[in-house]
Amino acid sequence: MIRLDKYLCEMEAGTRSEVKAFIKKGRVTVNGETAKSPEQKVDETKDTVTLDGHSFSYQKYFYYMLHKPAGVVTAVRDHHDQTVLDLLVDAPGKDLSPVGRLDKDTEGLLLITNDGVLAHRLLSPVKHVPKTYLVHTKKPVTSQMCEKLEAGVEIGDETPTAPAKTKLLSDTDCGLLLTITEGRFHQVKRMLQAVGNEVVYLKRLSMGALVLDETLSKGSWRALTEEEKAQLG
Ligand code: URA
Repeated sequence: MIRLDKYLCEMEAGTRSEVKAFIKKGRVTVNGETAKSPEQKVDETKDTVTLDGHSFSYQKYFYYMLHKPAGVVTAVRDHHDQTVLDLLVDAPGKDLSPVGRLDKDTEGLLLITNDGVLAHRLLSPVKHVPKTYLVHTKKPVTSQMCEKLEAGVEIGDETPTAPAKTKLLSDTDCGLLLTITEGRFHQVKRMLQAVGNEVVYLKRLSMGALVLDETLSKGSWRALTEEEKAQLG
């Protein structure tokens, strides 16, 4: 149950003061009865609320896939740089925030949601959610490098990285697909450095069951499909 004015704000019917004015003017009904007060409680999953005769269908959580371009920071707001949230122009949903972090120069899949429980689950170190990156490197990637990355490497943290998966690219010697199950700071870059190479381009392709929709151009986004949401659990 939530307050009627909060419900209307979450439905983006207006600002807190605007929706209060709508209620005062008798423009809002709850289950067919004219609403009397902004404090009145509504069951957002069951009650029918209308404004000027139009009903809302309540959605609490929103899930978006963004194809993050380079040059944009993974933050909700920033004084200097454009943020990933700045790219979600007109996306419905309050308190949206990115799940995990991609570096400013990293591109690819970023999930943005206001479902904190899901975000927590996807980021939890004990869940080992696999994340696959397309990595372009300065020098050719050798099979010895892959073996080391797969076994786990020292990157200056307390423990070496967890076992990873690698797959060499067929179209270039200087690149690989790398799947890791952790989310340490600059992890992929530090892992490649630890095996004597260097990342020159990085793109996240997937996170758990969620795969970047390659029809999304860089900087664009879409809501997750019902199937994608169900797969995320
Ligand atoms: N690893 C990195 O080094 N950078 C990213 O943005 C993501 C993973």
